[in-house]
Amino acid sequence: MATMTPSTLRIGRRYRPGRLAKQYDAVVIGSGMGGLTSAALLSDLGWKVCVLEQHYTAGGYTHSYERNGYEWDVGVHYIGDVGAKTGTRQMFDYLSGGTLAFAPMAEEYDRFYIGDKVFNAIAGKDQFRANLVRQFPREEKAIDRYLKLLAKAGRAMPAIGMRRALGFWQRILMSPYLLLKTPRFLFRNTWDVLSELTDDKDLLAVWCGQWGDMGLPPKQSTFLVHAMIVRHYLHGGYYPVGGSWRIADSIIPKIQAAGGEVFTYAEVKEIVVEAGKTRGVMMKDGHFIECPCVISSAGVANTFRKLLSADVAEHAGYQKKLENVEPSFAHLGVYIGLKATAVELGLPKTNFWIYPDNDYDAAVERFMNDQHAAFPVVYISFPSAKDPDYLERHPGTATIEIVAPAPYQWFEKWRDETWGKRGEDYDALKHALGERLMEHLYEKLPGLRGKVDYYEVSTPLSTNWFGGYQQGELYGLSHTPKRMQQKWLRPKTTVPGLWLTGQDILTCGVTGAMMAGVLTATTIVGVRKIAPLMKRIYS
Ligand SMILES: Cc1cc2nc3c(=O)[nH]c(=O)nc-3n(C[C@H](O)[C@H](O)[C@H](O)COP(=O)(O)OP(=O)(O)OC[C@H]3O[C@@H](n4cnc5c(N)ncnc54)[C@H](O)[C@@H]3O)c2cc1C
Repeated sequence: MATMTPSTLRIGRRYRPGRLAKQYDAVVIGSGMGGLTSAALLSDLGWKVCVLEQHYTAGGYTHSYERNGYEWDVGVHYIGDVGAKTGTRQMFDYLSGGTLAFAPMAEEYDRFYIGDKVFNAIAGKDQFRANLVRQFPREEKAIDRYLKLLAKAGRAMPAIGMRRALGFWQRILMSPYLLLKTPRFLFRNTWDVLSELTDDKDLLAVWCGQWGDMGLPPKQSTFLVHAMIVRHYLHGGYYPVGGSWRIADSIIPKIQAAGGEVFTYAEVKEIVVEAGKTRGVMMKDGHFIECPCVISSAGVANTFRKLLSADVAEHAGYQKKLENVEPSFAHLGVYIGLKATAVELGLPKTNFWIYPDNDYDAAVERFMNDQHAAFPVVYISFPSAKDPDYLERHPGTATIEIVAPAPYQWFEKWRDETWGKRGEDYDALKHALGERLMEHLYEKLPGLRGKVDYYEVSTPLSTNWFGGYQQGELYGLSHTPKRMQQKWLRPKTTVPGLWLTGQDILTCGVTGAMMAGVLTATTIVGVRKIAPLMKRIYS
């Protein structure tokens, strides 16, 4: 391994109390996709918004970092639904003022290594179907029934959003419509729904081959989220040109143009509530920012367990509600640098998903109980191959990223140690796990052995450090059927002036968090006020 040099890639403005405006219309906690989207929409409606980010750079999981001449993303490997003028693409174009471009991945955007068999997903609805039928010719009917279920889930999406945005009485009034549009099967677990279509275990495994995109294997996850993810990538995977950090970089000017700002190194210690109403936020440095409208994008667990006082959270009923949800899996990341280009190394624009066999749930259980069991999933992504701009920034180099689950508890004993100084036993554990993951890479691409210049491993403690997630959770709340039915996971809280946004409100994913941001801004100002802006965006 090479010696480390620190990261230089930083966006947002460093927080100092003297840099704050006298008054803001809204304060947003967290500069992830959810927080930035709400902030940008409100800014366009004339609000002055202050976004406060505890990390050294803005973007949350969309941030990138540099070390030793390489650049890696921490939470974006591909985005779907942006190859044509879709609603998703229109929202990205609006937020970025048209400055964010997306590069298509290979037609084969995902490849699934399941035991010793290889399957894949091919871009385009017809191509996706034809490819599945080619791989499972006897299952054509099941495949068509599966695609119909995905379409039904797609049609339910507006009603799912409405369920989160409407007020109590509006929901009661609309309940016949909402029930009709959101059939019960959407909230069953993925395995139960899919195993009614076929008993071919390999086909089931291929359908669920992207389970890592929501962090739960099929017997634990909600069919609705499964369907949303498969549909999201159905027309292929895309990568933000210039790297994932460009997402936040392209949105921030909209917030600044309205007099707002995105501050980094700006940790909020407490959301201050007095006489039952939101008063503002107390910063870690003791500075109080007064503002009657606070939007938390820091995750629901952080908001109600850490940022609100226990009294207020208890009184508002959130302590009890939190018992119905749990954190998603935590993960390991391996960030790899090579001194040759993606083309020279033959790196693909295809993600690899590597599974020990076709029983994903059993593999997860084995691994969670035994660190030495096979990794239940190893995901490998080749960002420098996907980004047509990468060589402009880092000539003559390439990068690879590996992601795999790992329980937070394995690392918890080092949680109070300083980043980078957690001691030899921590480093040894990281190294051992990292080496095992590297072997998966070499097994699939043997030509890379001996060519790796540098790699480093992140653990759930790294996620805790840069994202503030207390259990290092990969995707905020776990996407169980129970979570997806929690009516309180909505922008409006029971504390006047406090609003929620981000991946816990709808689902994980850059687009999930972005749509939560849209929902939050809409709920705050009301449909009537935001309608002209939406009309402009979706015209
Ligand atoms: C390894 C990995 C791979 C992924 N791959 C993809 C992918 O390929 N495609 C895709 O669409 N999605 C992917 N995702 C998911 C996606 O990145 C997230 O779901 C989404 O970006 C979450 O956005 P958010 O705004 O909800 O939260 P975040 O991005 O987590 O933002 C929350 C922010 O709040 C800040 N914060 C927390 N507490 C405080 C505080 N007290 N004061 C100030 N700030 C605070 C945090 O530092 C953080 O920046 C991936 C995620 C991970 C972890």
